[in-house]
Amino acid sequence: MAIVLFFSAHWIISAFFQSFFHHRYASHRMFTMTPRTERTFHVLTYLAQGSSYLSPRAYAILHREHHAYSDTERDPHAPGFFANVLSMMWTTAMRYNAHLTGTSSPEPRFLGNYPEWPWLDRVGSTWAARVAWGTAYGLVYLWLATAWWQFLLLPVQWVLGPVHGAIVNWCGHRYGYRNFRTNDASRNFLPFDFLTLGELFQNNHHRGGAAGATSAGPRAPAAIRGDAAINEARVTEDAGAPAAPPPAPSHTNALSAGRSARPG
Ligand SMILES: [Zn+2]
Ligand SMILES: [Zn+2]
Repeated sequence: MAIVLFFSAHWIISAFFQSFFHHRYASHRMFTMTPRTERTFHVLTYLAQGSSYLSPRAYAILHREHHAYSDTERDPHAPGFFANVLSMMWTTAMRYNAHLTGTSSPEPRFLGNYPEWPWLDRVGSTWAARVAWGTAYGLVYLWLATAWWQFLLLPVQWVLGPVHGAIVNWCGHRYGYRNFRTNDASRNFLPFDFLTLGELFQNNHHRGGAAGATSAGPRAPAAIRGDAAINEARVTEDAGAPAAPPPAPSHTNALSAGRSARPG
């Protein structure tokens, strides 16, 4: 029972910082912080994510690419282009690592306006640091576990950050319902949304614009806000006409939707 509580608490705390700091702050600038508060949350995010720490800078660039090219072949993690969630996670990790190590060439519009702390990002991303955190989690399991099956949770706990990302990116663009007709396959998935603290309202989020509860603030550049708002229409406001079926997350549909909606 103690291990389940440990796992659950770590899950919620890790999900909170990924949603609050990486997504809402670093990627979208939905709110502002003083430099000192930003530094404090950067450290807290590192402590919360531990073995699966994600650089806010690399995360923000990756996520802005996702919004600009959602469900097209230029989306770093469009589920319609992958046979399974593991292959999507692997491709996403490769792209993230390229942003982390500076071997990628992101569009200039995706750069800037995110927390930068090269030392912490570099040290926190080393295998030595990740293994040290993972070992510490393992010691807690050795101390508190009361049944063998509880150790099955340990590998998941080592990679909580990517697991949260995979749940949101896979389920949020594949399963659930749509409130808004966007030019992608984004959906809302309430049952799992409780596990990701609001991150699975992907359709509402991709609707874009400054009005959405999980959208970027009005001062954020267009690349940070995402440009889906230009073409969005509320499904329930479609006068008289039956709502068109949501775009299937298939290769062809995703591509054609993306090309008609995206500049360049
Ligand atoms: Zn977003
Ligand atoms: Zn999305």
